[in-house]
Amino acid sequence: RIAVERLSKSFGQTQVLSEVGFEIEAGEMVALIGPSGSGKSTLLRHLVGLTVANRQTGGRVTVMGHDIQCDGRLIRRSRAERCRTGYIFQQFNLVGRLSVMTNVLIGRLGSMPRWRALLGHFSEEERSQARHALARVGLGELAGQRANTLSGGQMQRVAIARALVQDADIIYADEPIASLDPRSAREVMDILKRINAEDGRTILVTLHQVEYARRYCPRTIALKQGRLYHDGPTAELTDSRLQALYDNADLDEM
Ligand code: ATP
Ligand code: MG
Repeated sequence: RIAVERLSKSFGQTQVLSEVGFEIEAGEMVALIGPSGSGKSTLLRHLVGLTVANRQTGGRVTVMGHDIQCDGRLIRRSRAERCRTGYIFQQFNLVGRLSVMTNVLIGRLGSMPRWRALLGHFSEEERSQARHALARVGLGELAGQRANTLSGGQMQRVAIARALVQDADIIYADEPIASLDPRSAREVMDILKRINAEDGRTILVTLHQVEYARRYCPRTIALKQGRLYHDGPTAELTDSRLQALYDNADLDEM
């Protein structure tokens, strides 16, 4: 379970998040939408502790019973705890010169003894987990290929496989399909949906195209200028509410 309480963040004079609050139950698949600059990426960064709220205005983030941050202070967590969340970015998820297999195995580093992680010695069990994860995302054949030779959609699937071997209970994905063609985008979203439905992993995914939120995510959280604009069933986001969210930008282009 993820709980966010009146989270506020400003960079200098720019207020990026204003008293944002919501809860996500384990096993949900939730879309996070909003115009460019509305604070989606900043919010995700707060959830994993990459960014800390302001001291004065603060707020609180609790994930699976552990405080991530409280009143502008980051709470220290063990490596093992941090491993329970996976983070997938729009780009640059992989180490290009390493093989697909090694990029997936990187997901195990956090839960290995430190000396073994430093040497990069993976056990046969870890390798078999990685092969299994690659098969689940449909890339079993490409284990030996260098990551920088993959297509964008394949790279995102490797990043998902890495979150799987990391055994992340929660996966945050920031615009995982923004740079993909419709077919690859559907493949990536299908895989996210499947690991949500089959494994019960919680997924919070930032999306530019509302279409995908409608198709894949029962619930949508929308930000507008750093404030919560909508939180509820995606179906309740009518065209007129969406137009107001995006200030009447042409929704067909999104
Ligand atoms: P997009 O859809 O384009 O990815 P977003 O909703 O993810 O947008 P954010 O990246 O969260 O938006 O940025 C929200 C605002 O915060 C922007 O105005 C951005 O310029 C500002 N911002 C983000 N990080 C910083 C930072 N480290 N320093 C200053 N301003 C920042
Ligand atoms: Mg962003």
